[in-house]
Amino acid sequence: MDSMHVDTIMQQASQAFEQYKRIKPAQRAAFLETIAAEIVARKDMLVQMAGEETNLPAARLNGEIGRTTHQLQMFANLIKEGSWVEAVIDTKPNIRKMLIPVGPVVVFGASNFPFAFSTAGGDTASALAAGASVVIKGHPAHQRTSLLVFEAIQAAITQSGMPLYTVQHVTGDYHIGKELVMHPATTSVGFTGSFQGGKALVAYAAQRETPIPVFAEMGSVNPVVLLPEALQTRATELATTFATSITLGAGQFCTNPGLLIGLQSEAFTQFQQLLGAAMEQTSPQRMLHPGIHQAFLKGRSEMLAQQEVSLLEHPAQIVDDTMVGPSLALTSGAALLANPALKEEVFGPHALLVACKDKAELLQVLKSLKGQLTTSIMATTNDLANWQEVVELQISLAGRIILNNPPTGVEVCAAMMHGGPYPATTDARYTSVGTAAIRRWVRPICFQQFSDDLLPDELKQNNPCGIWRLVDNTFTR
Ligand code: NAP
Repeated sequence: MDSMHVDTIMQQASQAFEQYKRIKPAQRAAFLETIAAEIVARKDMLVQMAGEETNLPAARLNGEIGRTTHQLQMFANLIKEGSWVEAVIDTKPNIRKMLIPVGPVVVFGASNFPFAFSTAGGDTASALAAGASVVIKGHPAHQRTSLLVFEAIQAAITQSGMPLYTVQHVTGDYHIGKELVMHPATTSVGFTGSFQGGKALVAYAAQRETPIPVFAEMGSVNPVVLLPEALQTRATELATTFATSITLGAGQFCTNPGLLIGLQSEAFTQFQQLLGAAMEQTSPQRMLHPGIHQAFLKGRSEMLAQQEVSLLEHPAQIVDDTMVGPSLALTSGAALLANPALKEEVFGPHALLVACKDKAELLQVLKSLKGQLTTSIMATTNDLANWQEVVELQISLAGRIILNNPPTGVEVCAAMMHGGPYPATTDARYTSVGTAAIRRWVRPICFQQFSDDLLPDELKQNNPCGIWRLVDNTFTR
């Protein structure tokens, strides 16, 4: 694919947007539902193809298709109900505001979720719900799967009578990604992947004559704090929980717990041993592709080569280009404070235990961490009363804080926040999961002194859409 081709695609996306943004929410909702139905119709083929391309097991892929169709339905319901446009009306000066779509959106498919964060995943579903046209750059690691999902979208476009270029699909290397971000018709970018990749896209966006936002979800080590009474009373249960969480999907989740922080103590040592034993019992797994496998082995050996990092659970020696066994290492709070390399993500089934000498050091460690998607706290009621500062620090640290549960597992729901302070994402105000993900692709428009016949339905005086609105400072429908 060349620049001329990218230009054609973005022109088509622009023209499609002009028509698509005018389509009534009920019809857009039906379009999203038809995409879901077309995906379900291809389910067996999709699972087989994605299995071949990603090494992910059929049960996981079937679950992920369920998540993907659920997301499409959730956004369909959101726009059918309609209040998401945040209509605000001040009748006295006759000023009225609502959210409208920004324009064509470029979505980069993620490697680790071939369905839910890829071609018809959350970014695409939320952008289409908002009324934006979408250009997808399929992830090179699962291109056949991506094209088959796109076929489902195209079938839905035809059946629902949507503009032909409402959604387009592009394959190619990073030059194409760069041109898509740089193209003047692109108004926003959605990305899930590496820190380097996300940073590169932000740099391209900033070089444009008209800069645009890049909503990039990048690395996170999802620090877990294990408080003393919880460790004393629930060490075995916590070890089993975290062995499962660390090794889930070969550790290829953005919410994988990479740092487990506690106070140096007998209970912490016992937890280390139980966790190591539980991890030893998990079977080696295949990673998504040889590139991610190589990156994991390199990252892990660099981590283990750092001073004052000791390997607790030795990974099984496997000669294979995608297979890995899990590993667990230990360091001290002081070592982590002295060496930023210990705070880096190792994307795969590996975790670092951090033993702090006292409460002050533990708080210092938390304070020293970069922005995260999640942070968890394992605590009893007494722990929470005695360690209130921990929760305060965690609120500043991450987008989601989890009590007595592991961070893997991201519910698709209205209250979800899947985002967090930089470098977890490029904009901590937004989530890429849940209904609020739609807010990335819209902007407010304010109409002043417009008569009712000239206003969008959402802002007309008698509320023909029946949506919740803030009218003269009172919520009403
Ligand atoms: P990636 O290398 O960041 O690539 C993701 C997408 O961005 C691909 O389509 C890639 O295109 C594109 N891209 C990357 N750098 C680019 C650049 N400079 N210019 C234009 N496009 C660019 O991520 P990945 O392939 O998914 O996995 C690599 C690593 O990312 C993993 O080892 C892991 O560390 C991390 N990762 C993190 C998460 C998370 O949720 N935090 C999820 C998945 C992966 P090309 O490949 O065609 O260049």
